[in-house]
Amino acid sequence: MRPRTLFYRLRCWLHRRDVTVWYDPAYRLPVSSLPSRAGLQPRRADFAAWWLRECRAVLPRGFRTPRRVPYQELARVHTSELLESLGNPETLAAVFGVDPSDIPVDEVMNTIRLACGATVAAARETLTTRAPALNLLGGFHHAAPGAAGGFCPVNDVAVAVAAVRAEGFGGRVAVLDLDAHPPDGIALSLESDPDAWVGSLSGSDWGPLPGVDETVLPEGAGDDDYLEALGALLDRMPRPRLAFVIAGGDVLAGDRLGRLGLTLGGARERDLLVASELEGVPSVWLPGGGYSAAAWRVLAGTGMALAAGSVEPIPEDYDPLAERFAGISADLTPADLGDTGELTAEDLEEALGIRPRGRRLLLGFYTTSGMEHALYRYGVFDELQRLGYGHFRAAFDTAGLGERIRIFGESEGEEHLLVEVILEKRRVLGVEVLYVHWVSLRHPRAQFSEHRPRLPGQDVPGLGLARETGTMLARMAVRLGLGGVVIRPSHYHIAYTARHHFSFVDPERQGRFEALVRDLAGVPLTEATEAVTEGRVLLDGKPYTWEADEMAYWLRESPEEPGEVVRERERVRFTLVPRADAESPPPAAGGA
Ligand SMILES: [Zn+2]
Repeated sequence: MRPRTLFYRLRCWLHRRDVTVWYDPAYRLPVSSLPSRAGLQPRRADFAAWWLRECRAVLPRGFRTPRRVPYQELARVHTSELLESLGNPETLAAVFGVDPSDIPVDEVMNTIRLACGATVAAARETLTTRAPALNLLGGFHHAAPGAAGGFCPVNDVAVAVAAVRAEGFGGRVAVLDLDAHPPDGIALSLESDPDAWVGSLSGSDWGPLPGVDETVLPEGAGDDDYLEALGALLDRMPRPRLAFVIAGGDVLAGDRLGRLGLTLGGARERDLLVASELEGVPSVWLPGGGYSAAAWRVLAGTGMALAAGSVEPIPEDYDPLAERFAGISADLTPADLGDTGELTAEDLEEALGIRPRGRRLLLGFYTTSGMEHALYRYGVFDELQRLGYGHFRAAFDTAGLGERIRIFGESEGEEHLLVEVILEKRRVLGVEVLYVHWVSLRHPRAQFSEHRPRLPGQDVPGLGLARETGTMLARMAVRLGLGGVVIRPSHYHIAYTARHHFSFVDPERQGRFEALVRDLAGVPLTEATEAVTEGRVLLDGKPYTWEADEMAYWLRESPEEPGEVVRERERVRFTLVPRADAESPPPAAGGA
């Protein structure tokens, strides 16, 4: 460690700061294909907010709720042509690299305007209090006055600078852009501001950026090289009276779009170094891009660095969604969800034959209204509403292999099947589990396209709620006193999506699956699952047929033996045979 870092770390420990955190649950972009498309975790802000609250780095009084930025404030930076075009799904679809059918315009603009409103409000507040402000969505640095792009419909930083300038702030502004991509939109938006300094440390060279103090690090640059270059950039930064820091989450090694190679610890060092340099300077911190499963940890880490000067890592096995849903579940009483066991007047009437038997209890416990209440409390109906559905209802019946749950929702006067699950209680390896025969998450409003190819087994695109569904099934198993959840993934992509919680019951099968994941790393998931389905994947040189065996998420003890997993994983090799007519893949879109 460099002595300078150690010095800053000591200073951070001594100075516990007040920090404001700007956040709204609507920060989750309602674009169902984004997770599979860009590796973007739409709940990054949720996860960071939940963690900062839970570890008490930020007290409830530190949280701020944003308001949507008015169009007059956007118009200080952006042309009216651009602002008008943001009302078209096609413009926003191009910005996010998805199909227009996947863009609910008003909901997406609500998210973007809330984030932008927060950056503006955070700048005003920090100028008054000097306490650093962290906005959990923003740093849209690719948007220029007349052009949107790279996940950035508008430029929140430029809009905030314009707002405080209009309100009479004349001091020097510094934008320290530590996203893995260069600040092309910020450079254009601030070029006429004589008191604005823009510094950038990135891993991609997009050509000259006039007016920007730019450092481009070589591909894969790690913590040491990064922190050294950052120290040099901070030395060149003139002392500002207002700073914006884009603490990009895409600096991590393994990011889908960023090319740097930082560790989580390195990203935290970065934030501590900058926070110390900006001690006493009003500052607004923004997350920028981040296209990996761990990106939320960078953002939560920025909050921990700002609030407590903390170098403490976030526990590796901490699953924010599982923790969150467990908390909601603990608040739901059996009476909220199902049968209390008490005899009601209706039961009596049914028993006497005065009333037809209407109530069917799912797995002997849940009523349909109990299920609807749970889905509301877990926030699933809110998400479905943002995707364009309403008037939800649950229905239960029996379907061949087990009991069936169906969730319906209306769109444009028509009722659609959105969720279908078939399950039963069954014993696996001697443990009674929730056995899931079938899960289908359907988004009939969305369409397949070149951006969103049909995955094997899909009749319409998915809802982007696979993780929520898995976590809710686990809560259901806990509620019913079961030892786990078991699925039989019919296709590679289902097993791949489930792999963080689920593993194959048969250790050798798990070993082969891990080998397959290892050998197909770098192949886009859609292409990989198609190749497996079409028999274009070879196992030790011979065509491999997908094995839809049982995968378990054990809630108590795990009956597996890791030794056999490793042996099989190291024994086998998979190779991908390209399709005869394969074209080279299109280049990845520039990230935020
Ligand atoms: Zn980026």
